Amino acid sequence: MPSWVNPEKCDGCKAQDKTACQYICPNDLMTLNREIMKAYNQEPEYCWECYSCVKICPQQAIEVRGYADFVPLGGNAIPLRGSDNIMWTCKYRNGKVKRFKFPIRTVPEGSIKPYEGFEADPNMADLDKPGFFTHNMRGDTLPTI
Ligand code: SF4
Ligand code: SF4
Repeated sequence: MPSWVNPEKCDGCKAQDKTACQYICPNDLMTLNREIMKAYNQEPEYCWECYSCVKICPQQAIEVRGYADFVPLGGNAIPLRGSDNIMWTCKYRNGKVKRFKFPIRTVPEGSIKPYEGFEADPNMADLDKPGFFTHNMRGDTLPTI
């Protein structure tokens, strides 16, 4: 199901240089009509359906809609992103609404230190050696739970 922008909610990211949905789309599908300041998915059939644009939109303006040929019109799914979860509101054709809440992280935002334990500055002499930056820097033992 490709993404679809609700023009009533989209504010064009307040005319910034690049909108959030343009920034995040891995397939460069999101486009901004600068005359009306509304974004849209220019090629829904090429959409990877990764929903990155859906999740990043600050206005919650992007919905997920089924192709009309196998999901009849009238249903949709709208996400509401929180700091540690996403709530999906799914509307069925008969008007029934169900909500599903999924956690998206288990630690506070900003608490992960991805380079902890590594040298602050690269040792240029290591470029001549085999291996990678992340190899064996933390000892030979694999992490255990
Ligand atoms: S991220 Fe949302 S508000 Fe911003 S341009 Fe895209 S659809 Fe519109
Ligand atoms: S769902 Fe993914 S591929 Fe499709 S328009 Fe959004 S960001 Fe791009």
